[in-house]
Amino acid sequence: MPKSCFAFLLVAVCAFAGPPTLRLGDDVRPVRYRLDLTVIPQQDTFTGKIEIDLEVRKPTDVVWLNSRGLTVDAAELTTAGRRTLSAKVQTSGTEFAGFTAASAIPAGPAQLRIQYRGAFNKIDSDGLFKLQDGGQWYVYTQFESIDARKAFPCFDEPNFKTPWQLTLHVSKSDAAVSNTPVQSETDEPDGRKKIVFGETKPLPSYLVALGVGPFDFVDAGKAGQNHTPLRMIAPKGKAAQAKYAAEVTGPLLAELEDYFGVPYPYEKLDILAVPLFGGAMENAGLITCAQDLVLSDPAQDTIERQREYALVIAHEMAHQWFGDLVTTAWWDDIWLNEAFASWMDSKIMRHWKPEWNTVIDEQNSRLGAMGGDELVSTRKIRQPIESNDDIANAFDDITYSKGEAVIGMFENWMGEDAFRRGVQRYIRQYAWRNATAGDFLDALSSAGGQPVGRAFSTFLDQAGAPLVSVRLSCGAAGGATLHLGQKRALPLGSTGSMRQIWQVPVCVRYGDGGATHRECALLTEASMDWKLAQATSCPAWVEANADGKGYYRTRYEGDLLDKLLAGGGAHLSAAERVAALGDVDALTGMGEIKSADALALALAFAGDPVRQVVGSAIGIVAGVHDNLVPKELRPNYARFVDRAFGARARQLGWKAKAGEDAETRLLRSSILPLVAVWGVDGSMAADARRLAGLWLTDRTAIDPDIAGPLLNVAARTGGEAFFKQLVAELPRTEDRQQRRLILGAMGSFGDPRIAGAALALVLKPEFDLREANALFRGPAAVPETRYVPFEFVKANYEAIAAKIPAGSTFGLGELLPTVGASFCDEKSAEGLRTFFEPRVDRFAGTRRNLAQTLESIRICTAYKAAQQDSVAEFLKKY
Ligand SMILES: [Zn+2]
Repeated sequence: MPKSCFAFLLVAVCAFAGPPTLRLGDDVRPVRYRLDLTVIPQQDTFTGKIEIDLEVRKPTDVVWLNSRGLTVDAAELTTAGRRTLSAKVQTSGTEFAGFTAASAIPAGPAQLRIQYRGAFNKIDSDGLFKLQDGGQWYVYTQFESIDARKAFPCFDEPNFKTPWQLTLHVSKSDAAVSNTPVQSETDEPDGRKKIVFGETKPLPSYLVALGVGPFDFVDAGKAGQNHTPLRMIAPKGKAAQAKYAAEVTGPLLAELEDYFGVPYPYEKLDILAVPLFGGAMENAGLITCAQDLVLSDPAQDTIERQREYALVIAHEMAHQWFGDLVTTAWWDDIWLNEAFASWMDSKIMRHWKPEWNTVIDEQNSRLGAMGGDELVSTRKIRQPIESNDDIANAFDDITYSKGEAVIGMFENWMGEDAFRRGVQRYIRQYAWRNATAGDFLDALSSAGGQPVGRAFSTFLDQAGAPLVSVRLSCGAAGGATLHLGQKRALPLGSTGSMRQIWQVPVCVRYGDGGATHRECALLTEASMDWKLAQATSCPAWVEANADGKGYYRTRYEGDLLDKLLAGGGAHLSAAERVAALGDVDALTGMGEIKSADALALALAFAGDPVRQVVGSAIGIVAGVHDNLVPKELRPNYARFVDRAFGARARQLGWKAKAGEDAETRLLRSSILPLVAVWGVDGSMAADARRLAGLWLTDRTAIDPDIAGPLLNVAARTGGEAFFKQLVAELPRTEDRQQRRLILGAMGSFGDPRIAGAALALVLKPEFDLREANALFRGPAAVPETRYVPFEFVKANYEAIAAKIPAGSTFGLGELLPTVGASFCDEKSAEGLRTFFEPRVDRFAGTRRNLAQTLESIRICTAYKAAQQDSVAEFLKKY
């Protein structure tokens, strides 16, 4: 029912009143779609016919659909009485089209037929979009969240799941793919052919997909229990680049089937590599994925690319169950899709490639989510959806990473087996249908034999992360008690209230004599005394977030932290060391720990044998660089960096040694840039510039694994000549990964003039804004150039906005305020606010991004004021 209806009006009047404002309501539902599209990628427009079988639940005089930017040429309605009436179309706002017949439409079955046309999106990757790769034209789709309406009028909400039957008319020289296998192909006049696809299983509009163009197909064999045919689909001429993807995708699908206990639910699986696409999309049976993730020239391939592909494709395949087979009922529960797929991709990776140690990387995802969750302007996992802005914001780190961590915490709490039974029960019970958070939590509670819904909901329905304080007391007669407290973790400068209670599953490990014990308890109040059941003496150390599984920060009291981290954290797993250092870093922001103490810990862990732990130490050291190190102490900071990481960096060098393992190669990428740019040894940067120069003419001059960081160091410490070489190289380079390397370097120069010149390129008509990310983000993240992107946006806002289509759901538009994310003073925040506030409605989702950026700046300002003296005092020793 439209929002504008008032309670005192008659219901009948309401039903016939104004158009919808957000949702379509439930009075008319789609039952089945038949969609017929003519898609010629060389043309600018497409034409379509759509027939929708309807179930009219209440008599009405108008059927409202979602439609955006489409022109309806003709429409007719056949009602239950088999009367066919031509329907008049009216539009409302940009999102709706209403179809009105000459007389009222009675309850019962009906059919709506619409002929329409629309334009391909040529500047962004949503709706039906076209682009060129290797001189050939292609058309692809991206419909999630609300962009199917740009390709056909439809009920564009996830709760409307129906079968779809698609027919395409394409050029004979093109191939076409969609969610289901081709049923028939027949020649048509004018060099075209008609391709009829099999009817899909019930799908919401956002999971319908197609691709048209002169594709290369790579047969990747059969996968899983039902021997599902699996193919990689690449732009013409790039089949050989799909080798790795073709090898690993099938085995990952089998892993997922094992977990779910339900075979892959669709007839086939195609992985379609899409140029200039960010990320991937889980369309049922036709996953679309960024070309530079799926494809790589084998000679230039990297460990990072391969791991990223495996992780992303496991995520998208997990969605075939979580999202496609069982679909969220509405966008407020999108975590049921995204948090689950994220949790599942991590889980599968741990099992499939334990040697990749992704269990440690998961800590960084959890810690990152808690960082964002410190903002008062953050979202809840289940944030109510009141507008399309909220839909755009729903696909954020809170949904993905906080959701993943919270799921992992309750899996740990319930036990893996019970949790898995709950997941399997949920999948079986809601297969082919929609479900809500409540449905999922009920399934978990039944499987686990104890209610988890209430505790789980305290994390789903309230923002923020708990800060759990831990104090240990031991009685003279033996026995040990942990005194726990909880409040919201908030940084200095926050305006939020700390008084917030969760039901927190707390699991601890502790050392007792020669033994290590593990216990769990549910912290449901602001404080709790917890007698450790297995302790026979006073524990020598306590890890209060065992395995880093809990979605909370830990603040140790007394000497507990010192005891825990003594001797390089000898009692801790690598994941726990990353977790502990992450908490220490966050506690400096809360004013609970001095930055000097955190830096001392970073030094102690700089030589840790595990790459990710070194990464945590680097994070602490790099974290103070931009705002807390006064100019006169820069040389001291450089000596400190050298003391912590210099020897290791020199030993590694830019060139990989023969037989080196993957972890060493990955460590090189994180440690060398730090030492080369911020350390005392200028030779490392000079080597980078020399190698980068060679790379411009010979791509084998640099080990592919280090190419990105090395080129960025060369740029950061280089000058105009190198920039000009990169500018000249870009149009000559067609390989998508190499283009990304070149653009990454172009966005890394430390000279504001060069950063500005690089940004100016995005205004050129031939520059595709989908490649602009590094040119904005690079300089925004570096102190010397941090104001350049904002000044550029201010001076050229209209020109930039003109290159972003209105109604773009996940575009650059709503991210523009984040060019100020590294500002750290009130005046800059005010400048950002003054400029963007009048412009927040231009792109959906902008308002929250601006609020979060402004709040981050306020917090950084408070952090700087609180900790800069401590940092200075520490650095004076070097
Ligand atoms: Zn996803």
